[in-house]
Formats: sequence, C-alpha cells, structure tokens
Amino acid sequence: AKSAGRDRCAVFDEAMREQAVRILDLEADLRRAINGDGFVAFYQPIVRLSDRSVIGHEALLRWRHERRGLLVPSDFIGLGEDSGLIEEVDWLLYAQVMKQLALGGEGYVSVNVSPRHFRAADFADRLLRMIDEAGADPHRLRIEITEGALLDDVPRALRMLRTLRGHGVLAQLDDFGTGFSALSYLHRFPIECLKIDQSFVAGLVGETRPESVAVVRAIQALAGTLGIHTIGEGVENDAQLAALRELGCAYGQGYLFGHPAEAYSTPLRQAVSR
Ligand code: C2E
Ligand code: CA
Ligand code: CA
Ligand code: CA
Repeated sequence: AKSAGRDRCAVFDEAMREQAVRILDLEADLRRAINGDGFVAFYQPIVRLSDRSVIGHEALLRWRHERRGLLVPSDFIGLGEDSGLIEEVDWLLYAQVMKQLALGGEGYVSVNVSPRHFRAADFADRLLRMIDEAGADPHRLRIEITEGALLDDVPRALRMLRTLRGHGVLAQLDDFGTGFSALSYLHRFPIECLKIDQSFVAGLVGETRPESVAVVRAIQALAGTLGIHTIGEGVENDAQLAALRELGCAYGQGYLFGHPAEAYSTPLRQAVSR
C-alpha cells in the first residue's frame, strides 16, 4: 500500500510539472495571440423569463488556440491577469463587440470588465473613444462589473459610472450575492441591474433550496428597493426557471436559453447579414 502511495505521488509530481510547462507555454502563446486574431467574442442570450424573448447578449471571451482548440477564460485568464496581458485581450474583445454593434441589429451587448481593469484611470475615456471610433451606439453597450470593483475606491467608481452612464453606457453588477454586498453603498451607484450569481440559481433545486430561496428573495427585495431589475445567471432547467419567476426575477441567462456562440449563430446574426 505504501509503494502504491509513492507511485501516486510520482504521478502527481509529473502532472504538476506538466502543468507548469503548460502554463509557461500558454503565456508565450498568449503574447503571440494578442498580436494575431486568436481571440473571439462569443455571445450568450439574455432573455425575458416570461416569454424567453432575447433582450441582449453577454460577450464572453474565447481563445481559438491553434493546437489546444477552443479555450474558455478559466483556461487562461489567471495567467493573463498575473502578466497584465488580460487588459489588452479585453480591448481586443471590446473592439470586436463595437464592430458587431456598428453593424446594426437589436438588443444590448454586455462586456465583462475585471476589477483591475475598471481601476485604470483612463478606462471610461478609452471605452468611449472606442465606441465613437467604431460608430457604435453607446446605448447598446453595457459593462458588467463586480462589487469589488465598486468598493475599492468609491468616489472614483462613482465618477466612472456616471461618466459612462452620461454617454448611455449602463452597468450591471455581476455575480451578485457572492461578494461583501455593502448594501449601504449600493443605492449610491448608478447600476442598471443585479446579476444573481449562478451558484444561487443552481441551488434553487435540490437540498440547498431553502438557503438559495432565502438569498434570491433577499436580492429581489433589495433590487425592488433600488428600483432595478435582476438577471438570474446559469439557468439550466425548467425547475430553476420556475423558481426564479416565482421569486420575481424577470430576466435570465443560461444553457436553457442558449449557449455562448459566435455572432452569426445568435439573434445578433441579423446584424451580420445586413
Ligand atoms: P461570468 O461573467 O459570470 O460569465 C458567466 C459564465 O457562466 C460564462 O463562463 C458562461 O459560459 C457560463 N454559463 C452560462 N450559462 C451557464 C449555465 O447555464 N450553466 C453553467 N454552469 N455555466 C453557464 P465563461 O465564458 O467560461 O466565463 C467565465 C468567466 O470569465 C466569466 O464569468 C467572466 O468573469 C470571465 N470573462 C469572460 N469573458 C471575459 C472578458 O471578455 N473579459 C474579462 N475580463 N473577463 C471575462
Ligand atoms: Ca459576466
Ligand atoms: Ca456572472
Ligand atoms: Ca463569474
């Protein structure tokens, strides 16, 4: 039994070594891909729960890696954050989204903004300039930020959000319920909606139902007080959909309504074929 344990360790060490090599490899690839066209925006529909009509899409980053295939953010985003590269990748993605918006079509597209990125002094200016240069309608672009990004530096976050909103770009709070939820601050921020984290939506069915119902109910009450709406994330089945509707959540996103896909295979396609 002892030697079997040692063997397992040997296997584990080898796996760790391979992992380390992989990461180094990937970082070099990431630098190269930034100068190429390896990054693509996928779009996932956000729907009205009552009739499943599409109100917008979230842009999600994908990396079409020449050897490893299609990579999702968790495969490489930590890497980019450490090396400061992710901001550059974000701008590449935003540029694609602006182009898509400039083609026409309907509904908004939301883009993810990492907390560190949101902290950059020129973030709002650069985004607005990009919208302008692309000829995109700013009212069709939204940003998704997490609570952390707001609470870091409240006055600055306020300025940033007001500037963006002044130009038509609304903000939605991502992964809501997972952070500190400094509720006393929330009413001060111009926030369009709260995205209920998918862990609570998943929890709405099964053993964790009572706790998840309590959390979602609290978020709904808060949103009601603030006069804003909510989007349930990660809706995968009819039971979750029914539970969300019962709790008063009007919008949702998840595999039940559509997986992230390239623009041409989403309702955004109308814009492409024009
Ligand atoms: P997020 O912003 O919370 O995005 C939602 C994630 O949930 C996406 O994962 C999406 O594919 C996944 N998802 C959607 N519906 C379902 C469902 O029904 N069930 C389950 N289990 N998952 C679902 P993805 O695309 O892998 O992105 C992961 C995270 O990476 C995002 O979480 C976001 O924080 C970050 N990210 C994605 N794109 C970008 C980007 O362009 N820039 C930055 N800075 N971060 C990004
Ligand atoms: Ca998001
Ligand atoms: Ca989220
Ligand atoms: Ca997330």
